[in-house]
Amino acid sequence: MLRLPACEVANPRTVDQALALLAEHGDAAMLIAGGTDLVPNMKHRLFEPELLVSLAGVDELRGVRETPDGIEIGAMSTLAALARDEQLIANYPALAQAVSLVAGPQLRNMGTLGGNVMLDTRCQWYNQTYFWRKSLGFCLKKDGDTCHVVKGGSKCVAAASNDSVPALMTLGASLVLRCSTGERVVSVDDFWKADGIANKRVEPGELLVAVRLPRTAAGHRGAYGKLRDRGSIDFPLLGMAARVDLDASGKVADADLVVTALQARPVRIKQVAEILTGTEPGRANFDAAVEAACTQAAKQCKPMPNIPGDHDYRRAMVPVYARRTLRAAVDQAGPVHHI
Ligand SMILES: Cc1cc2nc3c(=O)[nH]c(=O)nc-3n(C[C@H](O)[C@H](O)[C@H](O)COP(=O)(O)OP(=O)(O)OC[C@H]3O[C@@H](n4cnc5c(N)ncnc54)[C@H](O)[C@@H]3O)c2cc1C
Repeated sequence: MLRLPACEVANPRTVDQALALLAEHGDAAMLIAGGTDLVPNMKHRLFEPELLVSLAGVDELRGVRETPDGIEIGAMSTLAALARDEQLIANYPALAQAVSLVAGPQLRNMGTLGGNVMLDTRCQWYNQTYFWRKSLGFCLKKDGDTCHVVKGGSKCVAAASNDSVPALMTLGASLVLRCSTGERVVSVDDFWKADGIANKRVEPGELLVAVRLPRTAAGHRGAYGKLRDRGSIDFPLLGMAARVDLDASGKVADADLVVTALQARPVRIKQVAEILTGTEPGRANFDAAVEAACTQAAKQCKPMPNIPGDHDYRRAMVPVYARRTLRAAVDQAGPVHHI
């Protein structure tokens, strides 16, 4: 049995109290939301904080609110609550579908959107017990200096694996981050670095308070596609969010496709908007444009043996999932996954 390393737990009731604890304890403290990723990681000795600052009692971080420009989702909103939120299902379908496919039901009841955005990167050489990692001389991301994925590699290639993020990127989301000295709002697109050790532009002592989503238009269509070993619980082998906005005449006015579970940051497929705009679902020009977008996705996405699953198979599935997810968006038939 794996045991948790000893640590203290603080239970603030407000964001200000949580921020004061982070400022006081510095590197010795970590935030814990639902704990569904952090607790297993602590058992694997990937993190050994002296103090866990629990957000479980901070009610102001829960819930979905209307704003003048769209909606704001509190960071402590659970994935299960968001997956059944009618407003999300109707107006932000890719996000509702993505969170409905995270892990399994128990983990979605505890896991939060904030914890999902802030999820650590994953690698099959990293998400292992201390003894397992030690027997191989550890790795670049933690305790060692060797990359087992890219022989001789000096840059960690652990993969972003958070299902909500591709959807948030296609939706033009921004993140509200607070620390003890102020607040900043950053586009979710600008939040990522190509560094598997630390893939987020987050400052010490910062807390993700909320995720803001701009209003979607009437012709907005979205879908999430997820390839995984077991439909009941696994992390993505590939995760893909598609956005296809239709104008009043039914033609594509805008489109986007973002893929995760490849490398440290999610990958936006280039020129998807240019390729699809002006085409009309149901007509040959749309079918040809979808195929061109799939070809572009296959060119850009190069799965590595960083996460479990055969990477040649994952690579072969890129155009397949791109096609299915774009079509599911238009047909309002998502999510795309297998049971
Ligand atoms: C078996 C299993 C399967 C899983 N499958 C998936 C999957 O398919 N897809 C997927 O995306 N995830 C998966 N997960 C991971 C996890 O369950 C989810 O990502 C979940 O959303 C994490 O949220 P949490 O609230 O539990 O985060 P926690 O575990 O509490 O925290 C995760 C990280 O975020 C930080 N953090 C949390 N909240 C905040 C905040 N408000 N501000 C700043 N930092 C914060 C924590 O310090 C920690 O570093 C799986 C986990 C397990 C154990």
